[in-house]
Amino acid sequence: MPETEALIPIRGKLLVTAELVLVTGLHIGAQSAGMEIGAVDQPVIRDPLTQYPYIPGSSLKGKLRALVERTLEDLPLNRDGGPNVKRHECSDRSCPSCRVFGSVGGRTEDNIPSRLAVRDLFLTPASREQLAQLETGLRYTEWKFENALHRITLAANPRQIERVPAGSRFIMQWVYTVEDEPERCLEDIERLMAAMRLLEDDALGGHGSRGYGQVRFENFRLLRRPLGYYFGEEPEAARTFPALSEWSRELAEWAITT
Ligand SMILES: [Zn+2]
Repeated sequence: MPETEALIPIRGKLLVTAELVLVTGLHIGAQSAGMEIGAVDQPVIRDPLTQYPYIPGSSLKGKLRALVERTLEDLPLNRDGGPNVKRHECSDRSCPSCRVFGSVGGRTEDNIPSRLAVRDLFLTPASREQLAQLETGLRYTEWKFENALHRITLAANPRQIERVPAGSRFIMQWVYTVEDEPERCLEDIERLMAAMRLLEDDALGGHGSRGYGQVRFENFRLLRRPLGYYFGEEPEAARTFPALSEWSRELAEWAITT
């Protein structure tokens, strides 16, 4: 059977949990259409049930993908990713990006399942409590006035941009499916953690070049669940470490052992 048709057996799952701390205010935008009059120009995305801001897992996953791809060479930007944006996706199961982040939208038989699933990130209970005390005129957020000048006409374009305040903490969790390819899985985990480190020196969400969206990860917990765990035959195992500076090859090897 050609490689593209063979299922690669699952060996287990790795759950990576950490706190995402906002070092600076974060703006992840929602559609502003339909906003009530008097609202900010650029609102943040909120949980429709609780109204608390959150970070969509797809935002973090997309950022990690972009960072991973920029560490790789010779990835063709072969798909349209929206207006004036090109991105990479292919049907090669050995592709170091697509095997982790998945590939869809080509012919059905060319789709590659994603080894990585990123959960939506919600505020910690302590941060929810703190943000409920804010008196900014907005629920749980702040707004920042930005006045961009048109470069040629010098006409002002004032905007209010809503942000989740610095110091807020979200719970991050992603799940990596460990498949029966130990060497590639080790590479995947090392690349993902490198992308997390790069993200700490980059930015999440909008207006990163204006200083928004600086984040830091703290209090990691790795939970290793071998396939037997799901059949009630084997225990799960956990390791913790305080920050990405403590990430090591030894932890990577432990993480993908099944
Ligand atoms: Zn690819």
